[in-house]
Amino acid sequence: MRIAGYEIDLDEAYEVIKKNGYERVGLQLPDGLKRWGRKIADEINASVVISAIPCHGACDIADRELKEIGIQLLIHIGHPEIPKFRGKYELPVIFIEALSIDGIDGAIQRSLEKLVGRVGLVANAQYVHRLLECASILEKEGFEWKIGRGNDRIAHDGQLLGCNYTSGLSIADEVDSYLYIGSGNFHPLGLALTTDKSVVAADPRQKKVEEMERLKEKILRQRWGAIEIARDAEKFGILISRKIGQRRVQLAKKLEEIIKAKGKKGYLLELDEFDPSYLNFGMDCYVSTACPRIAIDDYLMYDKPIITPIELEILLGKRDWNDYEFDQIL
Ligand code: SF4
Repeated sequence: MRIAGYEIDLDEAYEVIKKNGYERVGLQLPDGLKRWGRKIADEINASVVISAIPCHGACDIADRELKEIGIQLLIHIGHPEIPKFRGKYELPVIFIEALSIDGIDGAIQRSLEKLVGRVGLVANAQYVHRLLECASILEKEGFEWKIGRGNDRIAHDGQLLGCNYTSGLSIADEVDSYLYIGSGNFHPLGLALTTDKSVVAADPRQKKVEEMERLKEKILRQRWGAIEIARDAEKFGILISRKIGQRRVQLAKKLEEIIKAKGKKGYLLELDEFDPSYLNFGMDCYVSTACPRIAIDDYLMYDKPIITPIELEILLGKRDWNDYEFDQIL
């Protein structure tokens, strides 16, 4: 079926439901597709419970919650599976991608003048199936291109997650610039923060092409500001996510130790959803071990500085600012 400019192929779900005789099925969608949840549920030949809790990515699967209310199968729409977690859910889960059907030619053509040398091609989950089409446009224009392979959190060659740039970094020595196809700034910004090479973001839907350099500088200034504001912090809240793909308990414990070794206080805090109103613990600074977007995208929503684990290392003098790295979940 086609909804909101995406192709969503439910055939696998129909087959699995029929073959296993499932009668109670859960449906999980990202917030941007929730308004079509009812339409998708109508297509499924079983009793459907739609998960209404926020869903941010394939790191965030509602298997536990839905199992508790008798669901037999979860259909997760909109994100490819994170291969590392295959077979680790409490329910069978089918991942059905939402593949953009937007024309990409115009956005690619507008990006050409900004590209330098050999081009590394990357995309978000909604456009990763279009990378070979993109490559053939570049080839006709005389560009060499390369598509990299990510680690075990990445389902498709060339795919980026907002917390994982290994597809792009795997070809860093073989390219001179990157072209990102997809919506939003966060993925290309994250890639720009992990490499010195130029990153050009082409958004076919918004028909926008943008180089990431200026945004990168702005965010680095903001991150430096967050570290400076936290300089005198004594009490640190270390945030641990309950979501399977964002849960970094060992890292949180390690951070607690390095905070204590500096004579300061560290407290582990576990959350499912992240919202500034939940953090009324009188801390001076929060360190998020969850999705890196929380510290970087939502920074201005918090009344205390919220920093990444790498930024904490800089704050505590264990790492130099010149070795700043974007926080990835690897
Ligand atoms: Fe996306 Fe954040 Fe989840 Fe990574 S941790 S998949 S960036 S929502």
